[in-house]
Amino acid sequence: MWGAHFLAAGLADLSGCRVIALGSVTAEEYPQWLGFLADRKVTAIGGTPSVLRLWFAHARAAGIELPSLRKVLWLGEAWQPQLEEDLAAVAPKARRHGMFGSTETWVVGANSPDCPADTFHPFPHQLVHVGDGGLLDFTSLDPAMLNPVLRYRTGDAGELVPCPCGRPGPAMRVLGRRDNVVQVRGLGLHVDELLARVEREPGVTRAQVLVTERGGRAESVDVLVLGALPDPDSLRRALLAETFTLSTAFVHDPEHVRVRVVDALISNDRTGKTAGFAVREEL
Ligand SMILES: [Zn+2]
Repeated sequence: MWGAHFLAAGLADLSGCRVIALGSVTAEEYPQWLGFLADRKVTAIGGTPSVLRLWFAHARAAGIELPSLRKVLWLGEAWQPQLEEDLAAVAPKARRHGMFGSTETWVVGANSPDCPADTFHPFPHQLVHVGDGGLLDFTSLDPAMLNPVLRYRTGDAGELVPCPCGRPGPAMRVLGRRDNVVQVRGLGLHVDELLARVEREPGVTRAQVLVTERGGRAESVDVLVLGALPDPDSLRRALLAETFTLSTAFVHDPEHVRVRVVDALISNDRTGKTAGFAVREEL
């Protein structure tokens, strides 16, 4: 069970239907589950677009149709247009219904089959603001929400637009992620968050993240620090403890996460620019 399952349980409860929460399904299990869904005349299915694609691809491969399916609830990622093709073959009556949000904001808004897949109507209790660089931030005014009256920036950029579906009021068009996340051993490392954390240490004037790769894989992560840092190892231990990506990706070789005080950060000699993040490839 994770956040999306509780959401699905809440939706099912309020709409008076029964729901099954499914975790990961092995390739051999798809035809059985799909046969079950067809027998039970299931009317709705939900998940991230990449998980939904697996379901419909397996249905197409097994020749299973879901004529009773009317609603495809999706969230968590951008819609994948290829899904329309799968739906036309497997469940021609099904239409997409999207939800936009995050674990911190919960569901901010939703869209209907008549809205573009990247455009959502915020709920009445949600304030949506477009900040610097088009970054969206969200505030819930619902006191029953997990975190009312806190502003959250999810890292998505967007704009407020009228929706072609005709529903009045501004809708939120999501343009994609703008935050500084890099992949380290398959996990997303929030570089800006990490740098902000390090630069809050007394004596640190500036920091930089250096990822060393060998054969395309992250071998190590060095946090380079300008300034004075009396105990780099205690900061290193704190970063490992606080940063999920680092502790998980380097669970077997935590010594490959280092904090080093340096005389100069790595910068581009030509432009003089010093980025917060650099990759070094080892041959
Ligand atoms: Zn709309």
